Amino acid sequence: MSSPFFTQSRTATTRVTRSGGGQRSGGTLAAALRSRLSGRQSEANTAPSVEVKVEAEEEKVSEQEEPFTAAPSTGDKLLQQSTVQPKPEPEASPPRRRRRLVKLEYEKEDVASGIKTEDWEPPAWKRQLEFIRDMRSGRDAPVDKMGAEKCYDAGAPAHVRRFQVLVSLMLSSQTKDQVTAAAMQKLRTHGCTAQNVLATDDKTLGELIYPVGFWRNKVKYLKRTSAVLQEEFGGDIPNSVEGLVRLPGVGPKMAHLAMDIAWNQVSGIGVDTHVHRISNRLGWLRKPTKNPEDTRKALEEWLPRELWSEINWLLVGFGQQVCLPISPLCSVCLNQFSCPSAHRSSPAKRPKSGPPRSPSPRIKAEPGRDQTINQKTLSPTGQRRVIICAI
Ligand code: SF4
Repeated sequence: MSSPFFTQSRTATTRVTRSGGGQRSGGTLAAALRSRLSGRQSEANTAPSVEVKVEAEEEKVSEQEEPFTAAPSTGDKLLQQSTVQPKPEPEASPPRRRRRLVKLEYEKEDVASGIKTEDWEPPAWKRQLEFIRDMRSGRDAPVDKMGAEKCYDAGAPAHVRRFQVLVSLMLSSQTKDQVTAAAMQKLRTHGCTAQNVLATDDKTLGELIYPVGFWRNKVKYLKRTSAVLQEEFGGDIPNSVEGLVRLPGVGPKMAHLAMDIAWNQVSGIGVDTHVHRISNRLGWLRKPTKNPEDTRKALEEWLPRELWSEINWLLVGFGQQVCLPISPLCSVCLNQFSCPSAHRSSPAKRPKSGPPRSPSPRIKAEPGRDQTINQKTLSPTGQRRVIICAI
């Protein structure tokens, strides 16, 4: 724990123990204590000056920082009692200056103990992460049942499984997990290998993956990527981020997730729209970011590497169920008291005055998640269809 407040409260507790013991001794022991003190006066005079200085300053910290103590424990009450006692000599220095001196003293201690105090990390991220784990303990979000880890054929050869992981990640962009899972099921029934995708004409491939978002572009990307994989990797996928991002239609997010799921190697944080949005809402970034790639870099600066794989799964499901893109459910979120964005983007609904408005194009496709009709297109079979894209 590098928090100065933690260090201060610990030293304050030590001081309370000492002063509390003195109070319990009462007046009957006062004479004996005076006798012992006078007898040991020479020992006190020979004590190291640094220790005397630190202890005296710790007393000042306990007095000044007491309002920051979270819960009034028994030790705190004793500390309050001890601080109201009149002091024989008034303090000469102004309070502000004394606090700065104490802080410098603790910085020296931290450096000596090897604790880095200058590295930035969100103040409450560990507790917030635990709360998100609690909220995700049901593992019943769409990503838990239909994410890329669930879309490949577990009985297929290893290189085919890895190819299917990459295909499902390519299809999942701008697409709900349910739609991606249905498309992958059709593709697997057809034969989801690089060789089969290459042998399938565009029209048939479009019918198989429809209605994933931007299915026309994805047909082209799938064909071109399958051609590269078949020619250069024998139908397998590259085992590096650099190799993966060179494939048509594969970006950093897909590459890091593919490395994790297909190769069981954590190369970076897979930041999609949920991870990007929630990291900014929780204040998990030193500065707000405008795109997922900047969010990935900012998160990787401070988040321990052993959490890089888990964080994607945690935040994606959390974003699907609680911290929704529009109108997040802050009132049921365990982080509502520490989240700087709580209740900001979900104002209380009030009845609107004025004449009735025309029906909104917004529809509810699943509980708590707004969707809007924002694109009309033709299906692969030529029928006019409506594409529903999540905001
Ligand atoms: S309090 Fe609201 S905005 Fe903050 S993490 Fe929870 S749901 Fe999201």
